[in-house]
Order: sequence, then structure tokens, then C-alpha cells
Amino acid sequence: MQHHDPSLILRGTPISPGLAQGLTHVLRDLLGPIDTPVDIEHSQVEQELVRLDCATASISDDLVVLATRVKKEIDSRLSEVFGSHRLMLNDPSLQQELRREVADNLVSAGSAVKAVFLRWERRFLALESQIAREKGEDMRDISIRLHNALAGVTVHPLDQIPPGCVLVASRLLPTDSVFLAHCAIAGVLLEHGSSGSHAALFVRQLGLPCISGIPDLMGRVPDATLALLDADAGTVTVRPKRTQQIAFHRLTEEKARAYRVARENARRPAVTRDGVTVSVVANVGSSSDTQLAIVNGAEGVGLYRMEQAYLGRMTPPTTTELVDEMTQVLAAAKGLPVCVRLLDVGADKPLPFLAFFAESNPALGRRGIRLLREYPELLRTQLRAVMALSRDFDVRILVPMVALPEDMAAVTEVLRQLWPEPQTAVPKIGAMIETPAAALSARAIAEHADFLSFGTNDLTQYTFAADRDNAAVERYFNDSAAVIFRLLRLVHDDVPQMPLSVCGELAGRPEHVAKLLACGIRTFSVAAPLVPIVKAAIRQCSCCPDRAL
Ligand code: PEP
Ligand code: MG
Repeated sequence: MQHHDPSLILRGTPISPGLAQGLTHVLRDLLGPIDTPVDIEHSQVEQELVRLDCATASISDDLVVLATRVKKEIDSRLSEVFGSHRLMLNDPSLQQELRREVADNLVSAGSAVKAVFLRWERRFLALESQIAREKGEDMRDISIRLHNALAGVTVHPLDQIPPGCVLVASRLLPTDSVFLAHCAIAGVLLEHGSSGSHAALFVRQLGLPCISGIPDLMGRVPDATLALLDADAGTVTVRPKRTQQIAFHRLTEEKARAYRVARENARRPAVTRDGVTVSVVANVGSSSDTQLAIVNGAEGVGLYRMEQAYLGRMTPPTTTELVDEMTQVLAAAKGLPVCVRLLDVGADKPLPFLAFFAESNPALGRRGIRLLREYPELLRTQLRAVMALSRDFDVRILVPMVALPEDMAAVTEVLRQLWPEPQTAVPKIGAMIETPAAALSARAIAEHADFLSFGTNDLTQYTFAADRDNAAVERYFNDSAAVIFRLLRLVHDDVPQMPLSVCGELAGRPEHVAKLLACGIRTFSVAAPLVPIVKAAIRQCSCCPDRAL
């Protein structure tokens, strides 16, 4: 007699709303291939040495290309690092040690790389000087490159996911998100990842239903099994019974109908009960986001996240590449206000070509405007691209991670230098309020800004000192806590004339719309799929401050 496993209902935190069903695709190696030492025969030594030489040559070539691009587009200091990586890789004593490891110990080239680089890394790390220690980090960087080249890792694991499946993974990294954009999956289940993580907002942006924080997900969900995902309720049914499938199908149809009604009204302006017109714009990272946003009634783009143009690349884009990318992504919003945020990398959004920036505490290190101030060529490239874009678009600029008034002054200064013709209006510039310091010095920052936009995801992270990507401190990460609204309200009281918007995830939650209006927020920038329901919520509220807070 054949036994069927019973159906299984798992619960987690809803990260991105919606219903989906599909066969599971369990991704176990998302954090990189696991490598075990591989023994070889004597007869294979020659072949392994050839593989080692080929991988070394190809990495060496890549490093030359990287160094040239980085020198031209970022900073010559940075390009030197790639040059020194190349020298280290081709160091005769290193190469000799690698060859000996293969020939004497009879292990594969990959295993030799792991063993030898680890030894070298330890040698450097054991030394006292800071420079030697940095070399240890460099060795790790090179070994990862070489190891991947030997393993033939040229495609990302997410590149090979079958369409229509439910992705099951331990966690998603921001760079994984870039690849996710290209696969047609139905939904995502994650073991770890808070609702404020970048991966979370990316899946929301894509309108991909997603549930996170499911305990022991990887151990409990088998591959290629039917799963019904209710990301509104935060439940997933694995191996559903026939009756569960019928009920799920009915629920999917009902929800689709309700959403259709909200969408029919979405093109109308969002006017509060007391007659205040509130602007609802969209957060976008791709052209399909912008298209969906406009269809859904968005009145412009409140946050264009430039990171997508940088992540998943080995070299930074040129001005022309950036302009092309932005023109394509923002095309559907031509004629409407579009707000371009300058590059916000660092912390949990590392760039491959800046991977050597090992900081012990990256969330408190060089991210956002801090990195741009340190590498002004990156900033200039982006401002030049904005300049070119402003010929065809109604552009505004948004500066990420502002903590000091000088952060804004640094950008306005470069903008002035680049904008020589006084007859053309310089785009309006806004500061993102994402740190308590920025909120508390709103008056000084406002002197350099035309508007302020609250990035409540980071504002929450920095207010509670709780990493937005760390599931272990999820309960501290509360973006709708009273302290967050207090900071918002304080800014409004300090600069009552300043246009205020929210572009963090808080803006997309209908239950908090009334409180945000009471804090003086008059622009809501939300993920494209959420525009209709946020507009509907605004129409139910009034702007009277004291009643809502
Ligand atoms: C935020 O921090 O709220 C924000 C909008 O920026 P990001 O999520 O891209 O850091
Ligand atoms: Mg932010």
C-alpha cells in the first residue's frame, strides 16, 4: 500500500502580500558552493595544473579590466587595489606553493587553492601591522575568485530556477535580488529575513508574495512539492489536500476581485475627508515597477533606487550607461516628477568592485553619501547622469544616509560646479532622514534641501540599533513604534514649511496612513502594487493632527 505524507501548514511573517501556488524549488547553496577537499590520482596532476594556470590567467585578465574601469570611473586609489591583487595572484612563491600542493598532496586545484590561500591569509593576519592584516583580507578575496573560476561558477544559482515555482531558501542577499528580477517565480519562502530587509522590500517591489521567519523551513519543506502560499496571512500549506486546494482557489479569486475594485479607483487623486490632496508616488528599481506604478495610479516616482544599476556587475556603470538605464527604467513616468536617489551601497548592499572594503561594522560605516563623499568620481558620474536625464524628465535628487548638514552641502556644491548654465533650473534636492541625527538636526539640514524624505526602514534600524536584516533582533525592529512617529512629528514641528514624504516601507501600510498624515506627511512613496490600497486608505482619513496621533 502506498503512503502519502500528510499536508503540512507552516507559519511565518508576511513580508510581501499576495497569494501564490507552485512546486517548491529548494535552494540550498544560495550562500555559495560548499567545498570539500577532493583527492586526485597521479595521472590527473598535469590536468589540474593546467586548470590552475587557466583560472589564474582568466582572473588576472579580469583584474586588469576592473582596474582600468575603476580608475576611470571611481578613483585611482581603488584601482591600485586590483593591481596589487593581480601582483599577489601572480606571486611566484604563491604559484609554486599551489603547484606543490596539487602535486605532492594529490588534491584538486580547488582544494589546493583553499589550503594554500588559507595559510597565506593566516600568515598575514598574524602580523601586527594594519597593512599586513589588510593583505590577509585581500588573499581571501582572491582565493574566492580563483576558487569560483575553478569550479566554473559563472552563473548565479538563481539564474537556473524553473518558472512558476515557489522559491524556498534560507535567506536572500541583496545581490540575489538582482537575479530574482529575471526569473518568473510565483512566490518566496524564507527561513530568515525581517520585513525591513532590502531583500524583503525587493520582493515587495516585484509583487512577489513572500513569507519569512519560518522555523526550520529548509529541513521541513521538500523539493518539487506543491505549496499554497497565503502571504497575507503568513501561512503556507505544503502537500495540500484536495479540499485545501479548492478553498485556496476560491480565496485567490475573491482577493483578485477586491484588488480590481481598488485599482479601478486608483487613477483618481487621493483627497482626504477634509479636502487635502495627498500625493502617492512609487518606489521603483526596474521598468516593470514603473509601468505597474503608473497603471496603478502613481503620480510619479518618489524613490528610484539606483543600486540595481550597480549591483550584480563587476565594474561600475559609466555616465552614459547610467543615463540609458534610468531612461529605460523611468520611461513610463515621463512627464511626472521622478526622484532619483543617489547610490546607496555599503552595509548589506555590497558592491563586487568594492568588496575589499572590509569594515567591522558596515551598517555604521561608509554607506550612502559617506561613500560618495569619499569617492567623488562616483558622485560626479551620478550627478552628470541626472543632468542628462533632466533634459527629458522632471527630475529631483535624493541624498541617502544623511547624518550631517555637510553631507547635503557636499552634494549641492558638486551640483553647482556641474550645472554651469544659470538659465536651466537646478533640480530640487532632498535629504533622506534615515538616522536619528538627521531627524534631530532637520533645521540645519533643511537649509541645504528643498524637501525631506523619511527612509523609515533605516530610521528604525538606527533608532533601535537593530539590524534590519537580522531575524534574531526582529522584535526590536518596529517601524511603526511610537518613537518613530515622534521623530517624524518632531521634524514637522521644526520645519513646518518643508515638504515631507515617507519612502520607507511604513508608507505602504494602510493602517498607519492616518498617523503619517498627522505628522505632516503629504507624499507617500510606496511599492507599485500598493499604490491603490494606500490611495484608498488616504481617502478614509482626515489631516487633523491631534485626533490621529
Ligand atoms: C529606507 O531606509 O527607508 C529607504 C527607503 O531606503 P532603503 O530601504 O533603500 O535603505
Ligand atoms: Mg535607507
